[in-house]
Amino acid sequence: MKTFFVTGGAGFIGGNFILNLMKTGQAIVINYDKLTYAGNLDTLISIEENPHYTFEQGDICDRDRLKKLFARHTIDVVVHFAAESHVDRSIETPGDFVQTNVLGTYELLEIAHWYWRGLNKTRQDNFRFLHVSTDEVYGSLGETGLFTEETAYAPNSPYAASKASSDHLVRAYHKTFNLPVLTTNCSNNYGPYQFPEKLLPLMITKALSGKPLPVYGDGKQIRDWLYVEDHCRAILEVLENGTVGQVYNIGGHNEKTNLEVVQTLCNILDEMVADSPYRPHKSLITFVEDRPGHDRRYAIDAGKIKKELGWVPKESFETGLQKTVCWYLDNKTWTDRVLSGAYRGERLGLKQF
Ligand code: NAD
Repeated sequence: MKTFFVTGGAGFIGGNFILNLMKTGQAIVINYDKLTYAGNLDTLISIEENPHYTFEQGDICDRDRLKKLFARHTIDVVVHFAAESHVDRSIETPGDFVQTNVLGTYELLEIAHWYWRGLNKTRQDNFRFLHVSTDEVYGSLGETGLFTEETAYAPNSPYAASKASSDHLVRAYHKTFNLPVLTTNCSNNYGPYQFPEKLLPLMITKALSGKPLPVYGDGKQIRDWLYVEDHCRAILEVLENGTVGQVYNIGGHNEKTNLEVVQTLCNILDEMVADSPYRPHKSLITFVEDRPGHDRRYAIDAGKIKKELGWVPKESFETGLQKTVCWYLDNKTWTDRVLSGAYRGERLGLKQF
């Protein structure tokens, strides 16, 4: 059995990743998470009592704490999800993104490197540090073309710039110190347990209570959508069979405009919540001021991970969205509880200077 040190495991993707990993019965997991507004232990209630799972609350910027934990455990794999992850928030408080995404990643790399150096040769060879990153580091595409692993970095938001910076640090720790790292750059995820400030859960929660559905600008920004469980499978595949030092792009082959996403969601809600007083839900769509510096189009070429590791997404956008909507309808308590904190669905990222 391998021991996984997972950062940010109380967040959306990290939470799904841990739940899926624990199902295999083949992993010991230490979940290290600061529990910011985006971290919710409710997501992990079903595994709380599992003897192979431990939660440790802490900040990735806290080197002493990390060092003590690494010294106490036998760690085979680090999967690094912890980050400030919302572009709109990065417009309001960019410093938090530099702190966690850049400096926090640096502290984690330092400790992983220190730990790895002390391992015997076999354990060094088997050790992996997987850095979970985003396609936003590549900037914005025109009407054609796809991001490949060779696309030059051109981040446009403070979020994307902080992730780009962390990607470079991870690369440097491999090139300079031989730390066995892997980096994945993934497109937009959706699915269960996503904090309701992101497009899909925000629209679902607003539509269910008959509130306006705020679409930024003309709604024609294109994103490539991937169901979160497909992303989690891809990460495991990269960990098992990926080549150390390599980067793998992960995408869903699902290019949709934001408006198409919201319209499809409204159609699904019309069918699934047939007694809703807000049908047709499309009538709730309201165009609002665009996000400053809003990237126009992202699209991933996931050919490398397909060719080298045989990974392809299992869910189409339609099947993934059906599953997601079902989950939010069945788990309103989860949403109510995570929305009981400071964030109540208000517009972020229009800071005036
Ligand atoms: P999320 O915001 O839902 O979760 C982030 C988690 O990190 C939270 O549990 C939070 O408490 C924790 N965290 C934040 N700062 C921390 C700190 N300083 N120390 C320890 N823990 C801290 O994010 P997500 O959507 O699950 O994204 C996870 C990772 O995947 C991020 O690195 C993100 O950049 C990347 N990513 C996300 C997407 C997406 O569509 N959501 C796509 C590609 C890549």
